[in-house]
Amino acid sequence: FQVSPLGDYVAFRQNYEAFVVPLLPGKQAVEIDQKSGPLPVVRVSGDGADFINWSADGKRIHWSVGPTLYSADTAALFAAGPQGEDAPKFAAPKSGVSLSMDVPAAKPTGTVALVGARVVTMASTDGGILNDATILIRGDRIVAIGPRGTVTVPTGATIVDVAGKTIIPGLVDAHAHGPQGEDELIPEQNWNAMANLAFGTTTVHDPSSRSAEIFPAAEMQRAGLRLQPRTFSTGEVIYGAKAAEVYADIATYDDALAIVRRLKAQGAHSVKNYNQPRREQRQMVVAAAQAEGLEVVPEGGSLFTMDMSLVQDGNSTVEHNVPLEHFYNDVVQLWSQTKTNYTPTLVVTYGGPAGDPYWRAHTDVWRHPLLTRHAPPAALAAQNARREIAPDEDYVDAASAREAKKLADKGVQVSIGAHGQQAGLGAHWEMWSFVRGGWSPIEALRAGTIMPATSLGYARDVGSLEVGKLADLVVLNADPTIDIRNSDKVDKVMLGGRLYDAATLSEVATGTYTRKPYWWEGAAGANGSGARLTSGHGHGDWAQD
Ligand SMILES: [Zn+2]
Ligand SMILES: [Zn+2]
Repeated sequence: FQVSPLGDYVAFRQNYEAFVVPLLPGKQAVEIDQKSGPLPVVRVSGDGADFINWSADGKRIHWSVGPTLYSADTAALFAAGPQGEDAPKFAAPKSGVSLSMDVPAAKPTGTVALVGARVVTMASTDGGILNDATILIRGDRIVAIGPRGTVTVPTGATIVDVAGKTIIPGLVDAHAHGPQGEDELIPEQNWNAMANLAFGTTTVHDPSSRSAEIFPAAEMQRAGLRLQPRTFSTGEVIYGAKAAEVYADIATYDDALAIVRRLKAQGAHSVKNYNQPRREQRQMVVAAAQAEGLEVVPEGGSLFTMDMSLVQDGNSTVEHNVPLEHFYNDVVQLWSQTKTNYTPTLVVTYGGPAGDPYWRAHTDVWRHPLLTRHAPPAALAAQNARREIAPDEDYVDAASAREAKKLADKGVQVSIGAHGQQAGLGAHWEMWSFVRGGWSPIEALRAGTIMPATSLGYARDVGSLEVGKLADLVVLNADPTIDIRNSDKVDKVMLGGRLYDAATLSEVATGTYTRKPYWWEGAAGANGSGARLTSGHGHGDWAQD
């Protein structure tokens, strides 16, 4: 809340909107909320309010939504005397002052040819593999791709010899939590996001984050001010549980529309439809998002009937696994006739120990030669060296993958979702768990590339290596189509036509960018004493999963 400078009003934020109430003198406690009680309360905002504050003389109140600054005259909020019932009420301003500015995207301008690799283009369901291929890139996009003899490399192009390597499209993590900032400050180097990039994740979609951090981080990435994957998010979840700060109260379609419009103004391409208790409320979120042209990603919280209602009600995806040992034909037939896709997040599968504990127990995470270059070694050791292990049959990631395959085989887009479990490796654990569940390596790679790109509406630009798409790709030292466990043997990563060495994240061949030391690489040495780890800002902050 914000008390006005003269102490005569207080502005407060509830349900993401700004409200003003007169402030009485005296010490007695008066309870107020948006519905008013003994005191008149005026809702001043229309479609959400952030950063509420008063002018210095208290005569105006300001708030913002995304890049737009709104204002209202304090005098217009409350009538000076008694009013008739039909007297006009205060109407929230529909327009404000735009504070946005255009910044050019950081696109390279050169021409680069990657020559000689085996390329898993993902242009077709069999992987669309080209052996001894040439990929020609101009600026940030692919302009030609094919067997070496079929692509003419213009003079002056930078040629990168990738003979013996395997190239796959950049990974698209459909459910990627992770810190983007702290107190609305965006770090110059976010090691968590950079580890993901070093491991080949070039696009992330975070279905629960802080708008004031993830959208600035996403824009800074596009402007070339931060090195991290392309970043998309829902911003704050549209949360039905009565948790302070995050509760989104949806009684009417207009409530849903206001919330969706606020998130869209902040930068969301999708919204998270989360734990609204009544089906009609969830349906209103879907309808509002469809009206505004946004994807809707919900989760059923391990409730099978809720999951099925989400599938029937036009949501874009279901996040997290549907908690069944077997999907019978009723589920497969119903689901595959909808346009709803599936992100089972095998790393955190409901029903038993999931992919995260499986891979932590079965691999030496803290010794990973690439991860130790991009994550604080002391934290890696603390979190991974000593681990619990369960009998193999107790782990449930494989069963969840096996059931998801029934949907994928019928055309449902099934995506990896690393859930922020382990920066860098999480996206690979997801693909590896799909293979544990009976997927072929190429099918698992599809779940890591073209299927999430299609599911989230990004496939025009990413998800496969084809003419016209963005040059987002991963150069691997070994072939993951033969053994999916080769997917983390990353040599180089290209993001938007810029090629980075995976071990250093410094640019090679396409430019001269040099990564600065991470905080633990400074004078304090590998243990980085004194510095602290930033925590995640996933919905784990206020929910169980
Ligand atoms: Zn999540
Ligand atoms: Zn979740």
